[in-house]
Amino acid sequence: MEKIKTKTIMTKSEEGNRWFGIDYHMNLYKGCSFGCIYCNSRCEAYRIDNFDIIRTKENALEILEEELKSKGLKGVVSFGALSDPYNIEEEKLQLTRNALKLILKYGFGVSIDTKSDLILRDIDLLKEINEKNSVIIKISITTHDDALAKKIEPKVISSTRRFAVVKELINNGIYTGILLNPVLPFLTDNEETILNIIEKGKEAGTKFIYTKMGMTLRTNQRDYYYGALDQLYPGLKEDYIAVYGKRHICNTLQYRHLFELFLNKCSENHILTDMDAIIADYKKVIPKNEQISLF
Ligand code: SF4
Repeated sequence: MEKIKTKTIMTKSEEGNRWFGIDYHMNLYKGCSFGCIYCNSRCEAYRIDNFDIIRTKENALEILEEELKSKGLKGVVSFGALSDPYNIEEEKLQLTRNALKLILKYGFGVSIDTKSDLILRDIDLLKEINEKNSVIIKISITTHDDALAKKIEPKVISSTRRFAVVKELINNGIYTGILLNPVLPFLTDNEETILNIIEKGKEAGTKFIYTKMGMTLRTNQRDYYYGALDQLYPGLKEDYIAVYGKRHICNTLQYRHLFELFLNKCSENHILTDMDAIIADYKKVIPKNEQISLF
């Protein structure tokens, strides 16, 4: 396991907590071994060479503890924006688990993005953090179809198992939802996928489903994705090139229709889809417009 030097672990959120109410970002690992063919963290802007090899940050927990002590705002700390915090090494290294213990000790909240069932190991800590501050878990599910998931996310647990993880977290009182990102043009941008994810999400008790109904294709990320498409679906890359050229944001061609369907079905099933509503719900604050009407 290669260790890399770092001086800082936490960075203040540039979005000013508009993205899932996150105040600080943190990546304890560099790189990720789950092999998702569309992974946005492969893009050149993040400058992560050999992305599929996991590295850890030297003295990560010591630096984290110093930073947590020094922050005035006991905000929500995000785990896993660029690398899954429950990657294959976490079972042995327990960096994420030990970081959660520090989050608990210093009274911060937590936001976790993952595709792994290893998060269930840490339910005890998530429950304790939830008693003092806010917790939100986002399980990424891009398709209901386990065979397709195996192709596009080769080292990740099945989608069926991921729905079960949502259910178990919810049953333990942990605020959990589904990230339906990316939606892959020509592969998952269809009614069957959207409706199945909503239906299975509802069965699992998901609090929200969040989607941008498209994908990014940036430099490096695009090359990797197109290389994988050539192996899995010969000829599909050419369709992407014809439609999207070198565009970075690639929304599905059926954007309007699928988004309308998505919003209507989620609303019927009382599943949140709006970012402000999700933040207000898990932080248990009253949104400004409701405060005004109450007043
Ligand atoms: S789990 Fe997330 S970080 Fe890891 S390869 Fe997949 S998309 Fe990238």
